[in-house]
Amino acid sequence: MIEESGKRRRTMAEKRQLFMEMRAQNFDVIRLSTYRTACKLRFVQKRCNLHLVDIWNMIEAFRDNGLNTLDHNTEINVSRLETIISSIYYQLNKRLPSTHQISVEQSISLLLNFMVAAYDSEGHGKLTVFSVKAMLATMCGGKILDKLRYIFSQISDSNGLMIFTKFDQFLREVLKLPTAVFEGPSFGYTEHSVRTCFPQQKKITLNMFLDTLMADPPPQCLVWLPLMHRLAHVENVFHPVECSYCHCESMMGFRYRCQQCHNYQLCQSCFWRGHASGPHSNQHQMKEHSSWKSPAKKLSHAISRSLGCVPSREPPRPLFPEQPEKPLDLAHIVFLFSVLLPCCASPTGGRGWHRDASGKQTPCAGTAALGEARSGGVGWAWLREGSGAKVFPLPQTSKLGEFSPLPGLLNSLTDQTHVSPSRAGKGKGQSRCLTLGVVL
Ligand SMILES: [Zn+2]
Ligand SMILES: [Zn+2]
Repeated sequence: MIEESGKRRRTMAEKRQLFMEMRAQNFDVIRLSTYRTACKLRFVQKRCNLHLVDIWNMIEAFRDNGLNTLDHNTEINVSRLETIISSIYYQLNKRLPSTHQISVEQSISLLLNFMVAAYDSEGHGKLTVFSVKAMLATMCGGKILDKLRYIFSQISDSNGLMIFTKFDQFLREVLKLPTAVFEGPSFGYTEHSVRTCFPQQKKITLNMFLDTLMADPPPQCLVWLPLMHRLAHVENVFHPVECSYCHCESMMGFRYRCQQCHNYQLCQSCFWRGHASGPHSNQHQMKEHSSWKSPAKKLSHAISRSLGCVPSREPPRPLFPEQPEKPLDLAHIVFLFSVLLPCCASPTGGRGWHRDASGKQTPCAGTAALGEARSGGVGWAWLREGSGAKVFPLPQTSKLGEFSPLPGLLNSLTDQTHVSPSRAGKGKGQSRCLTLGVVL
């Protein structure tokens, strides 16, 4: 009894801890609400070590904990949520090198308290499955494209079309994040939120969904989400440029250049706070830079471009088939994993194929079952790596038992240096584990 109330007291202190630390960062002096919100959520993400958990790992964690078999509206209690969060962090530590282990207990406590504050503000002690999925899939690491594809798989029908009421429900959940960091006035949910994203009620496919949410600018209510990803991307970008306001010799992150004043450049901290000096005013238009090129490099780039050697634009995102994205209906893949590989002892699903650094391939004990179990479905190869996983298509006619398309696939991966936590049992970790799923 005494122990329990002690535990509760500690939890209360820890609940305040994250918000107190966030306040100490003084994000509220950032004038622009989009940057302020993105900075706060990026802070929460990093403090809870969610940036180390890739979206694919997160999806696996949902499966490992049986969330894929539950209806979105099913309520789970806080102790089950704690179990889910624990498994996410224990799995994360297995993937991390021994020198970079995280404090599992602290991460669990911080994240659990944040989720409860954000999603159970009335203190019912319960969250819906969809709340948990939407929150964790938004706040984890990984590419925004992959996150949005996963989210679309959760809110679309069997014809591959978005269900508006489900998208509305997603917005309701995801906009609790800015609200939790006190940015509800700018980014809280309203009944008009859906309309601001998709003004016309029409059939929304995956490609249209991605085009809209990844547009520049994105829909107003979600503008902080791609920014949070860009923040993560530029965090370690170094600019050997002096800030015209604070005169620090160089800057990290974004750099802003005034479009009116000659060579007036601000670091992100000064720009976000609205600082201005001399003839420059914070009403001037500024251009955001997320990289720095030396003048010499710039010149050679300009020459190559004039010779047509360098594409002037970033390549567009991949186009996905209009038909339902079966491979992304991970509930199916996931379900079959466990059916196909009942003998598998690994906590995260199937066995497959190991290839060591010298190129030697060793099938795991579970592979034989794959060949037998396959019957005309569309095959997908699922490659697990330390910080994430990738899904590759296999031709429909391929026999998984023969692994015919796989040697090429494996060869294409040998250049990568990342090594997964080995289940090959050699202890050196010099292998990758490939597991296969079939979508019926
Ligand atoms: Zn500055
Ligand atoms: Zn200016």
